[in-house]
Amino acid sequence: MRASEILPTVAGMTSHHHPHDEPWHDLPEGFADYLELEAVLSAPVRTAALDRAAHALDRAPSQIVDLGSGTGADAIALARRFSHARVHALDVSAQLLERVTTAATAAGISDRIEGHRADLSGDWTAEIPSGVDLVWAALTLHHIEDLDAVLEKVYAALRPGGVFVLTELASEPRFQPADLGTGSARLQGRVTQVLAHNQHADHDWTALLEQAGFGIVDRHEHEVVARADSTEGAHYLGTALRTQREQFTQGMTDADIAELNAVIDAIEAGVSTITVHSPRTVWIATRPLTDAPTNPAEIIEADVAVLGGGPAGLAAAIALGRSRRKVVVIDAGQPRNAPAEGAHNVLGHEGISPHELLVRGRAEAESYGVRIVRGQATEISGANDDFTVEVSGDAARVHARRIILATGLVDDLPDVPGVQTGWGHSVLHCAFCHGWEIRDQRIAILTRDEVAVHHAMLFSHLSGQAAGFLHDAPDPTDDQWEQLRALNVTVVRPRVQRLILEGPQVRGIEIDGGTVLEADAVIVTPRYNARTELYESLGGVAETTPFGRQVPTDPRGMTEVPGIFATGNASQPMSMVVASAAAGVTTGTAVHGDLAFSGLQRAVDRAKL
Ligand SMILES: Cc1cc2nc3c(=O)[nH]c(=O)nc-3n(C[C@H](O)[C@H](O)[C@H](O)COP(=O)(O)OP(=O)(O)OC[C@H]3O[C@@H](n4cnc5c(N)ncnc54)[C@H](O)[C@@H]3O)c2cc1C
Repeated sequence: MRASEILPTVAGMTSHHHPHDEPWHDLPEGFADYLELEAVLSAPVRTAALDRAAHALDRAPSQIVDLGSGTGADAIALARRFSHARVHALDVSAQLLERVTTAATAAGISDRIEGHRADLSGDWTAEIPSGVDLVWAALTLHHIEDLDAVLEKVYAALRPGGVFVLTELASEPRFQPADLGTGSARLQGRVTQVLAHNQHADHDWTALLEQAGFGIVDRHEHEVVARADSTEGAHYLGTALRTQREQFTQGMTDADIAELNAVIDAIEAGVSTITVHSPRTVWIATRPLTDAPTNPAEIIEADVAVLGGGPAGLAAAIALGRSRRKVVVIDAGQPRNAPAEGAHNVLGHEGISPHELLVRGRAEAESYGVRIVRGQATEISGANDDFTVEVSGDAARVHARRIILATGLVDDLPDVPGVQTGWGHSVLHCAFCHGWEIRDQRIAILTRDEVAVHHAMLFSHLSGQAAGFLHDAPDPTDDQWEQLRALNVTVVRPRVQRLILEGPQVRGIEIDGGTVLEADAVIVTPRYNARTELYESLGGVAETTPFGRQVPTDPRGMTEVPGIFATGNASQPMSMVVASAAAGVTTGTAVHGDLAFSGLQRAVDRAKL
């Protein structure tokens, strides 16, 4: 880690007076404290990244590497989260490594955190054991000149199936107000210029990771916000501006320098209202399992193979595991609500992170002997009582008597620029999942090929500022106009060109002619297309409704193909988390019943011999 590139984290300010080509050994005054403040403000990003890392891991990690440990906040969080793991904290600064040791001792986990002095541009892999489970790099790689080489090292350090968590700036941080409240155009120009020196956002990390051979399993956006009107925000902003005053003031007039000093004084006196927003992106990438020494002969025997480890599949597996059935869950690890911060209407776990919910569900399933296999089920062959499932990745096959398809669905989103970027954050589909979070906001309802009076009804109840954008939809009928008027929903006829976003947050909607209408959230109506390919490959016929495609089943999940069951969103696209889990329990019990009855018949037949 080079401190000249660490400083621009929340505030995004670069300290150019430190040479870029020399590892940084002597920390400037106050820098370590600054990093600690930064670590406090970044806690929500860290927690979300940990949740997602835990979900992506196929087993509890035993060796973790933190690349660029700073004062140790991430290393400690990693050691706490993964309580059997040893964390190798790498940093170029001996002073920072001392802080890591002190913090680990204070946290009572010094036996599991090991500091290593290493330059990340050098051969740091020699410092760590081979085949680590998790590599973590938070704002520590962007400055390295040869990014391909460092990513190659991360790849080599991981075991097949190991996880790499990379956090970097998504775009330039921004001050609000941009002139720091001074009204000075020159100061604003200087601030913008300094922030623009920060080139970190320019790397195409997704492409770099893919080129290095990683499989990206998740990518999500966050924003770290430091507010001068909060104690820690004021402390942070004051320290940040003071330590980098030199950079801001280069070429400035005495009057402007006095303005900047007044800004810093106001922050430190607790009377400033400026904020800085720093958008972050977190990538969760894995070294593919296909890299693993394969054992193609391995066949896992099970009573039931559950395809999909979302709420439905895990709930089915738990019901079966508790009934002493041998169960294998094959999961590709892409739950539908992965982009969302929290899952709502989940009784007893309101607002829980979708990943955390599944981490708990997997642990519960495993506690009843369920085996969880990471990978994609690519093919099912055979017939009732004798199915074989091919799994990509793990190079294993599962032989099972019954199959539960809990493979969920794909949200087919409208093809409007910006929709994908905001999906799950500010581009939403469900009043019950996110409605409360956007109450009273400016809600734009983007209709598809029918007028979404239904959405207008639900969302106008949550906010008095709901507007319908007809986009490609036909004009409303007279009755619908009357209904929309009665609901006080404004209707916008021109076609939508694109959404204007800051990170994943919608700010406006550009319509034909270039007019931009402000909005805080956009509601879309996806087609809900269940993953029906495997079902169809067995001769099953998928059902198409105006909402999308699904596997038809009886109320307990039995399909028309003997031995094949379907549950959760695969057969009920409208089911939310709890309903999907409930369906999973019902289907799990139905499959157990089916196996029990066929066993009973066999027992009777045997007794007659
Ligand atoms: C943005 C968003 C936000 C949402 N928020 C909420 C909310 O707040 N509250 C709520 O109740 N509901 C919410 N939902 C709905 C919720 O996501 C679904 O109800 C729930 O995920 C359905 O569970 P499931 O197990 O059927 O499918 P999923 O959760 O989608 O799980 C399916 C699993 O199967 C895996 N899979 C697919 N194909 C294969 C294969 N061939 N082999 C192996 N594995 C495979 C997938 O990778 C995935 O892990 C939200 C949905 C979206 C899109």
